Amino acid sequence: MKVRKLVGSLLATTLFFSALISTYYYQKYQSLLANNVENTAKEALHQLAYSEREYNNVQDQISSISDLLGHSQSLYDYLRHPNPKNLAILEEVWSSVAVNQKWYTQIRFLNLAGRENVRINYDFKTRTAAPARKLQDKSEREYFLYAQNLKDDQIGSWGIELEKENGDLIHPYRPSVRIMMPVAMNGVREGYLVLNIDVQYLSSRLNYSPVRDFNIELINQPGFYVASLHSDKLYGDIIPDRERFNFGLMHPDIWQNMGSEKMGFGYDGKHLIAFNTIEFVPGEPLHLIIDLSQEQLLERAERDIDDLAQEALFVLSLMLVFALPITTLALHYRRHSIESKLARAALDGMTAVMISDTSHRIMMVNQEFENMMGYSSNRLRGWNAHNLIFLPEDIENILSIWSKLGVEHVWEGEVRCRTKLNHVFTAIMRIQAIMAKSGKVSYYITSLVDISERKLLEEKLRNLSEKDGLTSLWNRRKFEEQLTQHANMFERYPDTPTTCLALFDIDHFKRINDELGHDEGDKVILSVAETLQEGVRNTDFVARVGGEEFAVIMPHTSTQEAEVVLNRLRVAVEQNSEQSVTVSVGYSDLTADRTRTYKCADIALYESKSAGRNRVSICHSFDDIA
Ligand code: GH3
Ligand code: MG
Ligand code: MG
Repeated sequence: MKVRKLVGSLLATTLFFSALISTYYYQKYQSLLANNVENTAKEALHQLAYSEREYNNVQDQISSISDLLGHSQSLYDYLRHPNPKNLAILEEVWSSVAVNQKWYTQIRFLNLAGRENVRINYDFKTRTAAPARKLQDKSEREYFLYAQNLKDDQIGSWGIELEKENGDLIHPYRPSVRIMMPVAMNGVREGYLVLNIDVQYLSSRLNYSPVRDFNIELINQPGFYVASLHSDKLYGDIIPDRERFNFGLMHPDIWQNMGSEKMGFGYDGKHLIAFNTIEFVPGEPLHLIIDLSQEQLLERAERDIDDLAQEALFVLSLMLVFALPITTLALHYRRHSIESKLARAALDGMTAVMISDTSHRIMMVNQEFENMMGYSSNRLRGWNAHNLIFLPEDIENILSIWSKLGVEHVWEGEVRCRTKLNHVFTAIMRIQAIMAKSGKVSYYITSLVDISERKLLEEKLRNLSEKDGLTSLWNRRKFEEQLTQHANMFERYPDTPTTCLALFDIDHFKRINDELGHDEGDKVILSVAETLQEGVRNTDFVARVGGEEFAVIMPHTSTQEAEVVLNRLRVAVEQNSEQSVTVSVGYSDLTADRTRTYKCADIALYESKSAGRNRVSICHSFDDIA
C-alpha cells in the first residue's frame, strides 16, 4: 500500500514537473524563434545595405566608363575619319572594355538618325567580344527618342528592358539597362554612345552574399521579379504566364511597407522578407530583397534549437533523478501536517489543554481551555500561566509542583483556578513534562478538568449523610464517628489536654409538643440548636443525637472549664426561648472507652433531671458507674 502510494505520488510529481519544464522550454523555444527572426532580419538588412553600396560603386564605374568612351580619342578619330582603320581601332578598344568589364553586352554608336554605325557584341558564354556583322536602325526605339532629349555629355539610362533583336525578344531572356550619352565634337552633336548592361550578370555578381542562404532578388517598380535565382518567376510584366509572380500580390503587407519605407523587413509567419530600395536607374526604384521561408528560418535556428532541446532533456532527467527524494519529502510533510491536524482535532475534543514553555509562558491552548478560562487564545499566548490562571495565594504550591516535574515528569491533583471574570473553581490538573533528548524539560502540557460541580455534589451527599436535616448540626452518625476519633486520639496520646463530652436534653419537651403542636416543637429544637452552636468554640463539635437531645464535644477543655461553658449555654437557652424552655446537661471527661464516656455523661444528665432539671451535672470518668 505504501509502495503504491509512493509510486502514485512519484508519477504525479514527475508529471507535474515535466509539464512545468515543458512549458518553460516551450516558451524558451518560442522566444528563440522570435529572436532568430529578429537576428536574421538584422543580418539580411546588413547584407542589403552592403549590396546597395556595391550597386552605387558599379553605377559610378559605369558613369566614368561611359564618360571615358564618349570622349575617347579613338571615337573622335573615327568620327572625323570613319575609315576601316579607325573603325578597327575603335572596335578593338571597345572589345577590350567589354571583355574586361563583362557586363556590357553591347557597345554602340548611333548616328543622329538612329542607325548603328559602330557596334560590338559581348558573348557572356565565350567571354569574347566581336564587331556586329549586321548594323540596325534603332530610330524607332523608345530609348533613342529618350537619348535625343539628353544634353551633350549628359549620361542617361533606360531600362530595365528585355533585349529585342529586330523587334523580337531575345531568347533566353536578357534584361538590360541602356546607358546613353550624346557625343559632340566642337559643339556639334555627332550621335549617341549606347552601352547595354546585362542586368542578370550584374545582379548575379552584386547579389552575391557570403551568407549561404541569403539570395538577393531584384523587384522592379510594378512588383515583378527582374533578377532571381528562380528564373521561372522573372519578368512577369512581360511574360503573361508569369503574371502571378508579382510581389505586391504575393506579400501585400510587406509591399505596402516597401512603398513607404526605404529599408525594412516583414515577417508573416511563413516568410521573412528584408528589403532595401535603390535607384540604379534614376527615377526607377529597384527593390533588393532577401526572402527566407519558414523552413530556411528553422534551419538557421537549428543549432540553437538542438542546444535548447539538449538542455531541456538534461533538466528533465535531472528532475527525474530528484523526483524520488522530493516525493518522499512531500509525503512526509503531508503526513506530518495531517498528524498535526489530527492532534489539534483530538485536543479540541478533549479537556482544557495548555502547552507552556519552561518559563511557564503559554504557547498554545485549545478551544476547551479558552471556554473554561474566558480568554481568547491570542490573549493567552506569551502570558505567564501562574499569574493568569492560579490564585496568588496558591502560587507557591503550584511552583513546587512544577519543580517536582523535572524529576517525576507527571503530576496530577486538585488545584484552584480563576477565570477571566475571577470566578474561582476547583480543577483536577494533570501536568506532563515533555523532555528533550538532552534530558531537560522542553515544555509542559497541562490539562484541567473543572470539578467544582462534582465537589458541590459531594458536599451535598456528605451533608445528607452527616448532617441533621432540621438543625444542620452534625447527626448521630457523625457524632459516633467523632467520638470514636477522640477516643482513639486519647488512646494514642493519653497525656493530651482533657476533652469533655456533654449531653443536653430539653426539659419536659413532650409538654411543649402537646401544648404548642409539633411544628412549634421543631422550632424550639432549632432554636436550642442555634444557641448551642453559637455558644461554643469553633473547635467544639455540636451534634443532634436524638429527638430533643444534643451532644457537645469540647477538646482542650478541663471539667472545670466545661462546667462554666455548659452553665452558660444552659442559661442562654433559657434566656433565648419565649416558651421558657430549659435544658438539663450531663457531662464527663473523655477517655479511650467511648461507650463508657457516653454512659457517664448520660448518667450525669439523668442526675440533672432527677435533681429538678435546668442544671448541669458531672460524672467523672473515674467515678464508679456500675
Ligand atoms: P424530660 O426529658 O424532661 O424528662 O421530659 P420529656 O417530655 O422531654 O421526656 P422525653 O425526653 O422522654 O421525651 C422526648 C419527647 O420529644 C418524645 C417525643 O414525642 C418528642 N420528640 C422527639 N423528637 C422530636 C422531634 O423531632 N420533634 C418534636 N416536636 N418532638 C419530638
Ligand atoms: Mg429526651
Ligand atoms: Mg426531654
